Amino acid sequence: MHTGEVVKLDRGYPLVRLSDGETLRCEHATALVKGCDQRAVIGDVVSVSVPDAHDKGVIEAIAPRTREFVRKDPTERAVPQVLAANFERVIVAQPVSEVNLRRLERELVLAFETGAAVTVVLTKADLAADDEALAAVMDKVRALAGPTAEVLLVSDTDPASVEAVRQLLAPDTTTVLIGRSGVGKSSLVNMLVGEAVLDVGAVREGDGKGRHTTVSREIVAVPGAGRIVDMPGVRGLGLWDADTGIEAAFPDIEALAERCRFRDCTHHAEPGCAVRAAVESGTVPAARYESYQALKQEMATVKDRREQARRLNKDQARYSKQYRAKGGSSRKKRKG
Ligand code: GDP
Ligand code: ZN
Repeated sequence: MHTGEVVKLDRGYPLVRLSDGETLRCEHATALVKGCDQRAVIGDVVSVSVPDAHDKGVIEAIAPRTREFVRKDPTERAVPQVLAANFERVIVAQPVSEVNLRRLERELVLAFETGAAVTVVLTKADLAADDEALAAVMDKVRALAGPTAEVLLVSDTDPASVEAVRQLLAPDTTTVLIGRSGVGKSSLVNMLVGEAVLDVGAVREGDGKGRHTTVSREIVAVPGAGRIVDMPGVRGLGLWDADTGIEAAFPDIEALAERCRFRDCTHHAEPGCAVRAAVESGTVPAARYESYQALKQEMATVKDRREQARRLNKDQARYSKQYRAKGGSSRKKRKG
């Protein structure tokens, strides 16, 4: 048995780097996939067996994860999807001249939810109209990022600009890079590495016509620093678990909520609501309040669906137990 780390998902097959440095394409042992459907993701530490006369390794076990980046599976009603495991930092990237504050809020919620350190990197600084515009955007982004997440500015026309990012990548740590396609993530990784290890502008998550190109990117070692992985397929970032992420991303609103008259205030129309009062006085921007409520609502909907799915599975389990008790052969387990 060998130990290794998943450095890439290659058309659904984990590519595992073994301790001797060799990489091996792997499939999952049936025992892992059957029933609980455990699948290795980028960053997973795995035990691999290499059967004789077999072109692939077999992942026999996945080590417990220190950390996961989870979103709701975009194709399912109530199924989580883990996009990366075992990392110490999340970098959220957005282009400085086209910052989408609403998306940034969501990205921050998901990043904070992981418990990792969070940094915002604004890319394409060279495309900013002027210094004044740049400063205005930086202020807005800093306000959203809050006191714990640093905001950095980079440009591929200015190699020195990435040094601050390099400082964050401590040796023996892994950093996950998230952001829409086209924000300049590959360019950033290439600048950090000092050579073109990733194809710039080459990877698309889909062309809007339902056809999808495979997005597969690899954990990259940054010389003299840690490792970085440009996370694939993060166009849709549906919330899965986000209660602590929302708290961390909206500390201003959470602090105000302490002063609402009712402990279970939803900050909609209750009397004595300190959050609504702050929105009305302009202390909290209305758009920020609306984002907060929308994310809370999304979380409530996901929880409802998860509860429904849980009940459905329980009913199914009870049904098949009764069926077996009556002497029927055990039914093939349906995919819930
Ligand atoms: P990714 O999809 O997030 O990995 O983005 P890419 O790194 O592939 O970059 C998308 C496009 O933006 C490419 O055409 C890059 O050349 C361009 N780009 C990336 N960084 C910068 C930058 O700092 N300034 C400018 N002007 N263009 C950039
Ligand atoms: Zn309230």
